[in-house]
Amino acid sequence: MVGVCNQCGLPQDLCVCETIAREQQKITVLVEKRKFGKKYTIIIGINKEANIDDILRMLKTKLACGGTAKNDQLELQGDHKARAKSILLELGFPDETIEVQ
Ligand SMILES: [Zn+2]
Repeated sequence: MVGVCNQCGLPQDLCVCETIAREQQKITVLVEKRKFGKKYTIIIGINKEANIDDILRMLKTKLACGGTAKNDQLELQGDHKARAKSILLELGFPDETIEVQ
């Protein structure tokens, strides 16, 4: 027995709701320069269904930096634009949804 998706009513193996949700999100990675010349990498737009605390922990570990999550926005200390994107890809976010500014 295959379960049925409670969003679209299709059997789970035909359902693409999760794929659509991932493709519709738009993640922006940018670097902000603040006072004293400190740089922060900001990641905006991670889906609320995603476990943002796990994603933050993974980024902090892999980048060896400090960071915080505020609502759906992640702030990492330092300029990690390029590596942050490759980590998001490793976590399964599709390439076309990640925009690096
Ligand atoms: Zn569905």
